[in-house]
Amino acid sequence: MSTATPQKFEFQAEIKQLLDIVIHSLYTEKEIFVRELVSNASDALEKLRHLQLTEKDVHDDNLPLEIAITTDDKAKTVTIQDFGLGMTREELIQNLGTIAHSGSKQFLKALGESGAKNSNLIGQFGVGFYSAFMVAKSVKVYSHSWRKDAPGHVWSSDGSGSYEIEEVDGQRRGAKIVVELKDECAEFAQDWKLKEILTRYSAFVGFPITLNGEKITTVQALWLRNKSEIKDEEYTEFYKFQAHAHDAPRYRLHFNADAPLTINALVFVPQENTEKLGFARLEPSVALYCRKVLIDAQPKDLLPEWLRFLKGVIDSEDLPLNISRETMQDKALLDKLGKVITKRFLKLLEEESAQRADAYNEFYAQFGIFLKEGAALDFTHKDQLVKLLRWESSLTEKGKTTSLADYVSRLKDGQKEIYYLVAPNREAIESGPYLEGFKARNLEVLFCYEAVDEYVFNNVREFDGKKFLSADHSDVKLEDVPQQGEALSEADVKDLTKWLKDALGAQVAEVKSSDRLVGSPALATNADKFASPMMRRMMKAMKKPGEADEPVKVNLEINPRHAVIKKLHALRAADADKAELVAEQLLDNALIAAGLLEDPSRMVARLNKLLESV
Ligand code: ADP
Ligand code: MG
Repeated sequence: MSTATPQKFEFQAEIKQLLDIVIHSLYTEKEIFVRELVSNASDALEKLRHLQLTEKDVHDDNLPLEIAITTDDKAKTVTIQDFGLGMTREELIQNLGTIAHSGSKQFLKALGESGAKNSNLIGQFGVGFYSAFMVAKSVKVYSHSWRKDAPGHVWSSDGSGSYEIEEVDGQRRGAKIVVELKDECAEFAQDWKLKEILTRYSAFVGFPITLNGEKITTVQALWLRNKSEIKDEEYTEFYKFQAHAHDAPRYRLHFNADAPLTINALVFVPQENTEKLGFARLEPSVALYCRKVLIDAQPKDLLPEWLRFLKGVIDSEDLPLNISRETMQDKALLDKLGKVITKRFLKLLEEESAQRADAYNEFYAQFGIFLKEGAALDFTHKDQLVKLLRWESSLTEKGKTTSLADYVSRLKDGQKEIYYLVAPNREAIESGPYLEGFKARNLEVLFCYEAVDEYVFNNVREFDGKKFLSADHSDVKLEDVPQQGEALSEADVKDLTKWLKDALGAQVAEVKSSDRLVGSPALATNADKFASPMMRRMMKAMKKPGEADEPVKVNLEINPRHAVIKKLHALRAADADKAELVAEQLLDNALIAAGLLEDPSRMVARLNKLLESV
């Protein structure tokens, strides 16, 4: 068998330290060793493929370019064999026993002194191979170089301080790594366990992989291919595989760039928003890859949170592959990658909304809520996002929407604000008292049906220099328009409003006459900027039992042309008690319309009293 006696080597001092870091602290997930060894096998095959273009005399030239993995749960071993370029004796020593990198000593010294981890730098060393020692009692590397005249060798080590190299006959080209597992890591010798790990981390490796003779499904890394050569069906198939989906994607973004960062990304918008259907909050599911190898399936810091509905892959060669997933520290790089893709995606939406408005509206009906979340919370992308938002309005039909840009293009002369009303649906807004004054003046009001709309307006504050203002707010100033019907005289109005304020006491902040009312006798305007009716309801729902409510703060505006108001004015002299009941009821009616009536029980007693006097 062997033609020379085994020779023993000490690991370079730096390697010893490195091994210690790799085994004890770099990776928190032991299964990573599979990813690293398969990546090395894939690299070796790739290098061989290049060599074969120029070299005529390659050892075992007709071997297939494959990775064969076998497990033995009795012997507790995992074996990973490739028919790649292999290593000579010198290469085994150089690649697996020393660190060639010039700055390495310095770095490790610094590392030892500070006790800190710099995964980014470690990535540049290439420490993947040593991850095997997290799970291994011993590792043997059988290898035959592609060079015909070089003999085969076996490199072996228990990872503690030394390794041995011995010549062996009968080796095929490439490398065969035999990992003898520690007892507590024996699970990795289970076929199903390895299969699970392989499909997760290595689905896109560019060479066929078998596990115990059975083919592992690998998929083309579509994101690295040329856009013009990819058919729609291929994209859809890829999406289904990657997102575990059954539908076809609504949108896709295939993006490739070389500078300043190498980025190859392929992301999709699904048909349906499952959060909307009541399923759990989505987890980020654009996976992070480096040269086709999975780094993190659910990276938290890659894309902004509101993009959690996207599926797909972002691949960057600039990521240091050997760093552990959990201790990834290059947040700045991730951030940059995320920003590039987010910007591109927003641009795509902008184009789609302009060119295919119907399809965009369907998308928006599902995913608009995420865009609103982003507009309210993601300061970086706020401006782009706001342009993508849509609402129904007093000038659109039911079910049709407008953008803010279109709203602004329809502003009336002198209009400085963008008006909106929040209510559960269109009917509630149209039958309420607030809209009529705006309608009479031809002012457009956005109709908002989601609580998040208010967050958007409160956080974004303005668009194109126009402030957002709730149409039920007491800050709303509407200019006079000619009104139908006889109004109370100014003196009477003054009297009546003063009396009303006295009669209603602390329930109202102010009572005044208003020109914004047409068909309603009175309305309550919200004097509290940050607590609209919908907000109040939400805050109420979050209260603990027994906790007191903040009292409502409203202004009451009355319509001096309305019959009820005129009658009330007359009633004060005729029947002061009854007038007071009417005043109370007038306020409650206004509060109901505003969605602010919190205790209806008193109202029933009062109404009964009023009915008695009919
Ligand atoms: P990296 O892959 O980042 O270079 P590793 O620690 O994973 O770092 O591997 C160190 C080196 O060992 C590789 O650069 C390569 O030269 C060599 N090597 C590892 N595995 C193989 C293999 N299966 N075939 C040939 N060479 C290998
Ligand atoms: Mg490697």
